[in-house]
Amino acid sequence: MQKEPKFDCSKMTKHSVYHACQHDCPDNCAMESIVEYGKVLSVKGRKDHPFTRGSLCSKVKRYDQRVYSDERIMFPMRRTGAKGEGNFQQISWDEALDEICDKFKESIKKYGAESILPCSYLGHQGLLNGLHCGDRFFNELGASIGERTFCNATASKAFQLVAGPTGGLDPESFTFSSLIIVWGMNPIATSIHHSQFILEAKKKGAIVVVIDPIKTDTAKRADYHISPRPGTDVVLAMALANILIQNNLVDMEYVSKHTQGFEQFAARASEFDVGLASQITGVQVESFHKLSSLIAEHKATAIRVGVGLERTENGGDAIRAIAALPTLIGAWKVVGGGIFQNPQGTFPINRKALTNASLVEENRNVINLFDIASALSTSVQNPIYCLFIYNSNPVIAAADQTKLIENLRRTDLFTTVSEIFQTDTCTYADILLPATSQLEQKDLMYSWGHFNLQYNDQAIQPIGDAISNTELFRRLAKKMGLQNNGCNIGDEEIMRLALDWDHAHLNGISIELLKERGFSRLNVGSPQTRTPHRTGCFATKSGKFEFASTDFKSGGALLPLFRQGFAGNCGLQPIDPLPSYKAQKIPSGGLQLISPKHKHFLNSGYTNFNLKNGVANTQICMINSLDATKHDIKQGEHLILYNDLGEINVIADVTEDIIGGVVMVNHGYWMRHVNGKTVNALISNKPSKIGKGITVNDTLVFIKKTKVNSATEMTEK
Ligand code: SF4
Repeated sequence: MQKEPKFDCSKMTKHSVYHACQHDCPDNCAMESIVEYGKVLSVKGRKDHPFTRGSLCSKVKRYDQRVYSDERIMFPMRRTGAKGEGNFQQISWDEALDEICDKFKESIKKYGAESILPCSYLGHQGLLNGLHCGDRFFNELGASIGERTFCNATASKAFQLVAGPTGGLDPESFTFSSLIIVWGMNPIATSIHHSQFILEAKKKGAIVVVIDPIKTDTAKRADYHISPRPGTDVVLAMALANILIQNNLVDMEYVSKHTQGFEQFAARASEFDVGLASQITGVQVESFHKLSSLIAEHKATAIRVGVGLERTENGGDAIRAIAALPTLIGAWKVVGGGIFQNPQGTFPINRKALTNASLVEENRNVINLFDIASALSTSVQNPIYCLFIYNSNPVIAAADQTKLIENLRRTDLFTTVSEIFQTDTCTYADILLPATSQLEQKDLMYSWGHFNLQYNDQAIQPIGDAISNTELFRRLAKKMGLQNNGCNIGDEEIMRLALDWDHAHLNGISIELLKERGFSRLNVGSPQTRTPHRTGCFATKSGKFEFASTDFKSGGALLPLFRQGFAGNCGLQPIDPLPSYKAQKIPSGGLQLISPKHKHFLNSGYTNFNLKNGVANTQICMINSLDATKHDIKQGEHLILYNDLGEINVIADVTEDIIGGVVMVNHGYWMRHVNGKTVNALISNKPSKIGKGITVNDTLVFIKKTKVNSATEMTEK
């Protein structure tokens, strides 16, 4: 094994260390810790960062409390009681790794290597410790592939079908926009730094429109709020396109030079008559006309799409249709015009090197991790006997919580969880491993919300016996005898492999420079002048914006980045080359349930820091006052939401801030805090048409009142 340079903690005088936030958040803030005598005194945002500009969100600004929390998992532990009881005893790292590797070897011998399943996602975003960490190990081991389509698999695939892997509109260029449409996103809660750019533009006179079924904090500050029913955004966008086309408001010079498939698209759009679209979306006819006029009037129209949009069966089609709007008016020709989706194609990440997917044989078993509940059943073709969980909390994040827990209790399933805090998932572990926080490890950080690459330095020695994910897999590789294909390389070498350093976007940027300065903007032009598609240059097969996707035959195929770099065995499903809409049947008495992020949590992170203020233990359900009246529900009453998958206990928040027919319960609550099931107990495993993403916003539920919250009677685990 390559020897890592030892961490130098000899610097005892007060000094600062540069970091980048590792959480699943587009902002990827530049941070700085103040360290003295090997202890972090405080953490703050870096004022000189062009996007995050000195502030951290309220969740992270006391990051030092997270690092030094008493609740941290400090040592490797072995389960002592029954699965689900949450009782563990301390063991050594050697004992833990021996036990894991013995189980792996036994499982390989008895059932084959595909009986082992890694389960991870974006609990960490780093190029070292994040999405691909562990891929080289599991790909070489022969384990089943974990397909991670929890987020962005649909939106990224859909956007690539029409525009290719482009960074698109610079989020910093929004200050030059004259019309900003925030679609399916609440940036004040989930991308606070981008919301500052939007507010800056508004102060300069830009009109801000928010499209969301909830009147969010962002919507409350907007000039216009449009609230379509979940899953109908494609109809809204196609009807807007139809108005632009029918009224000759299209920039035909741009469209004829830089796009393909316009005639087919126009024919499809003509099927979305405003009257019909109004009935389907619940949006008033006047709003269609108002918004289309605004778009036509403002060349510098900027669209920011959020993850809420993609989480329905129609989500990918919505992304394709929405991306068509700025293209129709030639918005790409001006600074501040276009759409920002996810700039991962802009960072030249060397995923081949990070994943070693060339070691995966074509027919390797693939398991969609959102549907891990089904995969852990013993009746499947390739049963799983060893589950290795890191960077994720599937009990709270995956579909069908009830079935998942039932299967995690299997006595013949050996589960390892590497974590910082003892989450609900940890309760079902056989072995628990202590993971480091961001201040205890090195990393290179890309962003899905801006164009800066960042270095995260190590500030302190790991707390207790915690180790980084990269170190965890080095130790596992050594124990399993995987030494030949780079499973054992050190952090410095991973950094060199992680990016294509010769790529034009990294011109003049080196690891050394990043270590010295902490961050550097990619060479993608300046926000003041950047117009990436002024003359087309889309990264599609045709080099044009594809209103009709030429790559429609692979439309259902996933991007390899969401499946450990593996492109094969995809279950390829062709899609409609043009955006289309599939209606959802809502049964009598049924309500649509949406479950966005909680503004005080980071997915299911930081939930445990919101107990004292009462936020984490009260599962709130927003319900429109008309629906509440219909069901005789009053503010603060105990309710049960249920469907054929399960039921959850919630407290009613009767409000006008959500449209009728829709209820909202945030995801991220912990079962142990609410003494019962959380919202994913109601969510199915159904994948979306494009990119096999999740369809949580297609969930249908029924509602009933309950006098006593039966869950509160349960004994706390
Ligand atoms: S969670 Fe997001 S906004 Fe908060 S500090 Fe991290 S990157 Fe910044």
